[in-house]
Amino acid sequence: MNSFADVPAMIAACGASSGKVYLVGAGPGDPELLTLRAARLLAQAQAVVYDNLVGPEVLALIHPAAQRIYVGKERSRHTMAQEDINALLVRLAGEGLSVVRLKGGDPFIFGRGGEELQVLAAHGVPFEVVPGITAACGAASYAGIPLTHRDYAQSCLFVTGHLKEGGGEMDWAALARPHQTLAIYMGLSMLPSICVRLVESGLSPCMPAAAIEQGTLPGQRVIAATLSTLAAEVAAAGLRSPCLTVVGEVVRLRDQLAWFDAPAMQPRESNLAFTTGA
Ligand code: SAH
Repeated sequence: MNSFADVPAMIAACGASSGKVYLVGAGPGDPELLTLRAARLLAQAQAVVYDNLVGPEVLALIHPAAQRIYVGKERSRHTMAQEDINALLVRLAGEGLSVVRLKGGDPFIFGRGGEELQVLAAHGVPFEVVPGITAACGAASYAGIPLTHRDYAQSCLFVTGHLKEGGGEMDWAALARPHQTLAIYMGLSMLPSICVRLVESGLSPCMPAAAIEQGTLPGQRVIAATLSTLAAEVAAAGLRSPCLTVVGEVVRLRDQLAWFDAPAMQPRESNLAFTTGA
């Protein structure tokens, strides 16, 4: 069933029972959006395995003596293959360590968290999951775009725009329904064709649509346009990953509700300073 036939024996040999993996969501970027539980686990873990969407302020919460292992995870620059990450987690837990597997946003939303846990489960490694604020919630909030609103959208779909080569075509008819918001992850490179397909499938070319780069971070940039203009505006502005696209009437509300990228954002009073009890 998996490619780690020798791993269970290895784990048994070194007594895996004391190790544990915590699959933790780091939130969308702003370190203050980390959960208290995530911060506490980072301060206590003996090993932290993290990817590129996790920022330095969150990593600063890791206990100084803990092993930090960067495994990358960028579309074009996979630092470590998924199979190797899975094997690493099994090995660290097999050494009896308390391991945090730290992922951007929420680990169960386009984060392959489920796949990693399936491997841990298959090898009898105990685990827990700590949810995080997913990019759609974080970036939309900081862009002043409510994902639902009684006047505009009764549902919101989280979809990936990163289509597998030759694999599963999107259900465009379902995406083009009215009174619905689309939050499109990983769609930057496909943005022109996504906008075209949505219009071909029935959405108005004038449907509001926004792209949010580096949502919740100080460098956040938001382009609010329409399905017919968004791709060109995003290209002209040179937006780069990580970038989330929001499509729907709710994008109009940004005119009234934008608050974070207003020029004179006030500094925060509090800083992350948790008592961990460690
Ligand atoms: N598990 C993550 C998603 C990982 S997929 C989560 O729950 O958020 C990576 C995609 O998430 C990026 O390509 C981008 O579309 C989106 N993303 C992550 N962080 C983001 C941010 N700060 N701003 C905008 N989009 C972001």
